[in-house]
Amino acid sequence: MSHTVEILSVGTELLLGNIANTDAQMLSQGLSELGLNVFWHTVVGDNPQRAREAVALAKSRADIIITTGGLGPTCDDLTKNVLAEAFGKRLVFDEGSAQRIRSYFARINRTMTDNNLQQAMLPEGCTILVNDWGTAPGCAFEADGVHVIMLPGPPSECRPMFQYRARPYLLSLSEGVIASHTVKLFGIGESTMEAQLRDQMNTMSNPTLAPYAKEGECELRVTAKAATDEEAQTLLQPTVTQVKKLFGDKVYGVDVPSLEYVIIQALRDRGLTLGTAESCTGGLMAKRLTDVPGASAAFKGGIVSYTNEVKEQVLRVPEHLLTQFGAVSKEVAAAMAEGARRTLGCDIALSSTGVAGPDRDEDGNEVGTMFVAIATRDGTHVRALRLGTRPMRERLRTQTASHAFDLARRYLSGLDYGE
Ligand code: ATP
Ligand code: MG
Repeated sequence: MSHTVEILSVGTELLLGNIANTDAQMLSQGLSELGLNVFWHTVVGDNPQRAREAVALAKSRADIIITTGGLGPTCDDLTKNVLAEAFGKRLVFDEGSAQRIRSYFARINRTMTDNNLQQAMLPEGCTILVNDWGTAPGCAFEADGVHVIMLPGPPSECRPMFQYRARPYLLSLSEGVIASHTVKLFGIGESTMEAQLRDQMNTMSNPTLAPYAKEGECELRVTAKAATDEEAQTLLQPTVTQVKKLFGDKVYGVDVPSLEYVIIQALRDRGLTLGTAESCTGGLMAKRLTDVPGASAAFKGGIVSYTNEVKEQVLRVPEHLLTQFGAVSKEVAAAMAEGARRTLGCDIALSSTGVAGPDRDEDGNEVGTMFVAIATRDGTHVRALRLGTRPMRERLRTQTASHAFDLARRYLSGLDYGE
């Protein structure tokens, strides 16, 4: 049976817009990795009547309800009361949880007020999800054919409580194992990707295919369920192979964290070094490359050449290129990459120049006009980008850096540079 999940977040702060519902986002990601279908996110304030209504609705339509928040010691923390009532359970005092709460306060050297023991009141017969990251224990039970899991609100507790407590509980609900692989793509839009897969996605049940888009990149997660990991892998393999074939050189890796990670690995394997010269990305390429552990073996350094002065004096971009074509041009992008390669003494150099907005540049180039270049011992190549005027500055920079990385990735894999 495939499960349907409702995430019910309790907290007036969420409704007031004081905080975003990051717990629900985190849980949804984790649940989809388990192959569970999240069909609803509900938010309700700390109001008993409306919380009762929300629980009744969730109970009528989902077979797994996961709540966040409202487990704490204060009177507005009503989650357990409302859930227990909806499922006809009493709250009973759990001495083990009380002990843990007492020793938690002793450990952090704070005196415990009595209302804290309120947190040790738990639905009768539940599985207690011990909270090693805070005071309020979570709990899980099954009643009326529905599984209920309650997790604390603070993200620093909710995340590990999901990972180490709820996840194993959920895994035990499904017989067998769930395994997945993530195919990472760059240079294809989410809608194009989905269009090519739609028929297939609708007919597949095991494995399933789920597309995700983020920061100008796409991912496809292939998830299979089977009795053993080996069987799951056997189910996954044909689909992974087929997806890789379908999207060809747009696929930059399977189960890899990022483009920059792939580049650093490839550079290290080949004993090559990389450097950057950045204008519009303002150091973002260097930042992302140095986020990869072990980058120092491959990344030599970067120059943020934001002004023409630095482009000329540090990178030795010829003045006539700047005056004739302007700083945002394919000629200058190429000269920047070549200059960085020389100046930094690296095997491969990447550059970026463009208009990140919010306004056109002084030469009248539209926002989103970007050039990225790669210089290697085999020559220089420039990719011109029109990323559109709508995306925000931050997004334009991220996408531009990713395009530069894509050039490096293609060079290192012996592929043509693509569009
Ligand atoms: P506590 O024991 O801290 O009272 P709790 O389980 O009762 O935990 P809440 O009182 O509802 O949780 O929320 C505590 C804090 O956790 C909130 O102030 C907020 O910062 C954060 N929080 C709660 N719910 C969410 C959510 N859905 N997403 C992100 N943060 C949340
Ligand atoms: Mg609270």
